[in-house]
This record gives sequence, structure tokens and C-alpha cells, in this order.
Amino acid sequence: MLYITLLLFVIALIFFWRSNRQQKEAGLPGGRIIYTDTHGWGKVEKPLFYAAMELTGKPDYLVQQNGKIIPVEVKSGRAPETPYDSHIYQLASYCLLVEKTYGTRPPYGIIHYENRDFAIDYTRELENALIDLLVEMKRDEIKKDVPRSHEQAGRCAKCGFRNHCDQSLV
Ligand code: SF4
Repeated sequence: MLYITLLLFVIALIFFWRSNRQQKEAGLPGGRIIYTDTHGWGKVEKPLFYAAMELTGKPDYLVQQNGKIIPVEVKSGRAPETPYDSHIYQLASYCLLVEKTYGTRPPYGIIHYENRDFAIDYTRELENALIDLLVEMKRDEIKKDVPRSHEQAGRCAKCGFRNHCDQSLV
């Protein structure tokens, strides 16, 4: 199950892998601010799994709305101006998992920051960008060396893989 662990880790750190330019080309939705009522949010007990992509993940909550199931990802800290691309991709992977698990496509997902919530439309473009990324990651998994894609010591300082990484900057 090492590949699953790696997959989840990499999703959480997507922006290490992609340049800003590539993400803009992918046309990621910026997200729109919404107001939510946390009452109807149901905790997710077990991870969701999509075998065809060997993808697993556990949204923090699932919300039922008009027959749709909306995944919610909770982030600590105050909201950025617009959600980080890594957060958008992580939420998109939950949308994909919800669709494959429950057979109903979420029209959007929610990123919940301390002070603000964003709805991220789960468009075909976002789904395609996510799948391209997952395929790219699978390719990289079998490579012995994947070069570091940044020069920011701060990222390495917070990275859980630092003690095992031969490219750490700290
Ligand atoms: S420690 Fe290694 S894996 Fe972690 S951010 Fe730095 S270079 Fe990337």
C-alpha cells in the first residue's frame, strides 16, 4: 500500500510538482465564496477508493444537497485570497472519489477555511486536469529519482518526508 500513501502525500503537495503556468493552463476554477451551515455535515468514517486510478482519500465531511453529495475539505488557518491549487486538486480528487463511489457527480466541492468557505466547481476541465496529474504521478512513482521542483527551504522544513529525502534543503 506504499503507492497509496505516496499518492495521498503527493496530492497534498501538488503545487510542488507543477509550475504556476501549467496550472493556469489547466484552467483551474478560482472558487467562489459561499456561506455554509455546518449542521448537515456528516463525518466520513472510511476512506473512499477508486480502483481504476488506484486512488484513495477521505474528505473531512460529505454534505447531502438536493440529491447530490458534496465533499468538504477543512483547512486550518485563514483563507487565502483564492484557494491554493494544491487544495483545489485535493478537493477534485474527493469529487472524483464521490462520483465513483456513490454514482452521483458532485457539481462542486467545498474548501472550508477558518474564516471563509469556497465552492469549487467540479468541471470536466478540472476533472481532466486531475486525471492528467494522477497519470503523471503514477509515471513518476516508478522512477528512481524525481528531482526537487523548488528552491524553498521553508517547504522542506515543514515536509514530513524530510528525514528520508536526499534533496531536502534543510
Ligand atoms: S524534503 Fe524533499 S520531498 Fe520534502 S519538500 Fe523538500 S525536497 Fe520535497
